[in-house]
Amino acid sequence: MDEDRICCDLMRTQLKHRCEQHPNPHDCPDVLVIHSPRFDEYGIPIRDAGASSMFMRFCPWYGASMPESKRDL
Ligand SMILES: [Zn+2]
Ligand SMILES: [Zn+2]
Repeated sequence: MDEDRICCDLMRTQLKHRCEQHPNPHDCPDVLVIHSPRFDEYGIPIRDAGASSMFMRFCPWYGASMPESKRDL
């Protein structure tokens, strides 16, 4: 994750969130946003016990554009 691209403090706080009880952020109910290094995507985790997430195009708090997904590369 490239720190300079993080759009706002709320997003930064979210992405830096680490939970003792849930080493996997997908398991943690406090995590609203996760960064997927594979595609360089920011997304909303889907609680299906897997690692899926919904790609976000815009910051949910301030509406800033998020980086394009690298999924198509
Ligand atoms: Zn933001
Ligand atoms: Zn947790």
